[in-house]
Amino acid sequence: MSTGFTIPNRLLLGPGPSNTPASVLAAMSQPTIGHLDPVFINMMDQIKQMLQVTFKTHNRLTMPVSAPGSAGMETCLVNLLEPGDQAIVAVNGVFGKRMVENVVRAGGVPIVVEFEWGRPVDPQRIKEVLNEHPQARLLAFVHAETSTGARSDAETLCCLAHERGVLSVVDMVTSWCGIEVDVDGWKADAVYSGAQKCLSAVPGIAPVTFSEKAADRIRTRTKPVQSWFLDMSLVMAYWAEGGQRAYHHTAPVNTLYAIHEALRLVLDEGLENRWARHKAAHEALVKGMESLGLSFLVEEPYRLPMLNAIKVPEGVNEAVVRNKLLTDYNMEIGAGLGPLQGKIWRIGLMGNNATVECANRAVSALDECLQALK
Ligand SMILES: *Cc1c(COP(=O)(O)O)cnc(C)c1O
Repeated sequence: MSTGFTIPNRLLLGPGPSNTPASVLAAMSQPTIGHLDPVFINMMDQIKQMLQVTFKTHNRLTMPVSAPGSAGMETCLVNLLEPGDQAIVAVNGVFGKRMVENVVRAGGVPIVVEFEWGRPVDPQRIKEVLNEHPQARLLAFVHAETSTGARSDAETLCCLAHERGVLSVVDMVTSWCGIEVDVDGWKADAVYSGAQKCLSAVPGIAPVTFSEKAADRIRTRTKPVQSWFLDMSLVMAYWAEGGQRAYHHTAPVNTLYAIHEALRLVLDEGLENRWARHKAAHEALVKGMESLGLSFLVEEPYRLPMLNAIKVPEGVNEAVVRNKLLTDYNMEIGAGLGPLQGKIWRIGLMGNNATVECANRAVSALDECLQALK
């Protein structure tokens, strides 16, 4: 087949995307059909159900937004905030900062609570800030900070917000399908994720889910959401059980075939088996990296299994190593961002790539590169 360009076969061990299983790509290459075709609508109902199972929720307002993870973030924030609303945002990395930017653009007033990059969000500090700002509309934070590899205690943070009648908005882009998420059990109100991290589907879809309380908030807004495309009130009827499936926008039909197949693979494996697989891969990576004398940015109890921030040794140019891995080993890893630029590598073991084999390949390739550059 001639496509006019040649795609290399990379091993994607960065912060996402992860490698897509063959059956997901095969699902995507089936014939395109109409997005109002009964066969397609039936498939969309199945996607909704599988999203509910993987998020552990019964939320009726659960759907895949036709855009990447960042659009999931924007969907949650623009729907729940009206101009002048206060939003407490915990920032311990790039994606917390992006949430602040979204709050501002939605006309909200951010109350920014900063934490050291590489550390989790401190629930004690958040408790104090919630007490200082009883009128805040919501609390937003990132469960799995992909820019640093730190895991925050989503359960405790959501419960703190819930106790005070404040809505919680949680970024589960990197955690979903890799470590436990329990939307109903944790009483999270608005959650978004992405397809290309631990689901190992193609990029471009943001699953979102809203609690009844969050849905009520959207219904009782006084001003319309400033984004027509992301306005949930326009698609709520569409996604309700037995809802009238009317035209809103053309769904990315083939991309959703891929999402359906990737979700099917997750449920086939079992969520808990999948979490255990991520954990085992991470443990193999830790063992290997420590044997090379390398150390981790994040303290052990807060480390994410699917995103490993490894400190660049003194005197090593991290970009040279990363480029050598890409060109000589067809292996992609991530760089540090913001204050961590030049200081860490980010090794992702996400979804399909969460295997001991991938972990060992990363260790031996990094070892060879470091030896060669000595
Ligand atoms: C990747 C990521 C996003 C953004 O997702 P895109 O699909 O790149 O828009 C948001 N939050 C976190 C924690 C991420 O890892």
